[in-house]
Amino acid sequence: MIDFDLILATGNPDKKAELVDALAHLVLPIIEPPYSLAPEETGDTLFDNALLKARAYAETFGIAALADDSGLEVDALGGAPGVYSARYGGTPPAGMTQYQHNNAKILAALARSEQRTARFRCVIAVVAKGADLERLTENEARLPEGVRLVSLDDGWVVLAAEGTTEGVLLREAKGVAGFGYDPLFLSDELGVTFAEASKEAKRAVSHRGKALRRLIQALEFANLETA
Ligand code: IMP
Repeated sequence: MIDFDLILATGNPDKKAELVDALAHLVLPIIEPPYSLAPEETGDTLFDNALLKARAYAETFGIAALADDSGLEVDALGGAPGVYSARYGGTPPAGMTQYQHNNAKILAALARSEQRTARFRCVIAVVAKGADLERLTENEARLPEGVRLVSLDDGWVVLAAEGTTEGVLLREAKGVAGFGYDPLFLSDELGVTFAEASKEAKRAVSHRGKALRRLIQALEFANLETA
């Protein structure tokens, strides 16, 4: 599909598991980094943070990198926590995980709210050398919807795809699979929470699955242009 190595730019084991699964399924050649980096996520958008992470890995290891930045947008909270989802609850008290603490804070924030609609949003960015994505840069105007291509000032090019998935937030956790806000997120498309769904079912409808499939579509489009 693509003829350059791609390193996975994430230190989050839960995301890593989902990405490795999905990428194997989508036959994208991916290698795991010899060690993790933890660049500070200073961006104001998912795109900026995905780019920041992918770029850090690409520069450190000298090869193309793929990163995910994602978050939960709650309508009754004006779209929060969004890009700040990972540490929404602040530092968890002893005996509580970050995920449990974040979920407790969401439940408290929505305790008196009848409006429970929310969505997960994900941006997957690939940072590669311009030459590797040459066909895409020549045909930028014809990229699939939800895909962006940006040339950076130092010869790297970023290809980014976005995916969203809609649901409602329950008043209590349901299910034990997945991670993060999954036990609270009742998926419109599945009719169960992401923590009750199988990996395959989540991947079929999730923000991450949709973003990845769009990215692959863009890379396939690059191949088609060579034919
Ligand atoms: P970041 O992309 O590393 O900034 O972190 C995104 C945060 O959003 C995670 O730590 C989770 O709290 C949440 N999140 C992202 N994707 C998912 C998902 O698929 N299920 C549940 N929570 C998620």
